[in-house]
Amino acid sequence: MVGHVLVLNATYQRLNFISLQRAIVLLLKQKAEPIEVDVSAQLHSERLSFDSPVVIRLVNYVHVPYERFTLPLSRRTLINRDNHTCQFCGDTSGPLTIDHVLPRSRGGATSWENCVAACLHCNHRKGNRTPEEAHMRLHTVPRRPSDPFSILYDRARHNEVWEKYA
Ligand SMILES: [Zn+2]
Repeated sequence: MVGHVLVLNATYQRLNFISLQRAIVLLLKQKAEPIEVDVSAQLHSERLSFDSPVVIRLVNYVHVPYERFTLPLSRRTLINRDNHTCQFCGDTSGPLTIDHVLPRSRGGATSWENCVAACLHCNHRKGNRTPEEAHMRLHTVPRRPSDPFSILYDRARHNEVWEKYA
């Protein structure tokens, strides 16, 4: 799930991005406190009115060993990694699909190293072949993102306030 509220640990370390809805639940349950808010975006419920959270901090420390932090591979996170760009033709305008470099039918894994964003045209053209067999060139070597945080958030809602906590 890709969200646009940055969650900090009690120690102010970055933990995750979550949806606004989840952030509000944490705030209402007093499991988190707002650190940065968007004063231009007021939220209203029947009884309450408050500024839209941009960064929240958990009240209680959560122990998350860095090695165990695994970035979920989803259509959204993969397309974020690939900059919303078809990795074969460079198209950024159309809808993107996930292409398995070594096709799944031939044992290709659904992994960061074997999946790339591809436009419908390129995905169809490549079909059940490897890029070499289809005479198509990959723009990048697919790999696991080195900075999961750059992938987790919804880029359309990028907020420079987040960079203070990088
Ligand atoms: Zn393409």
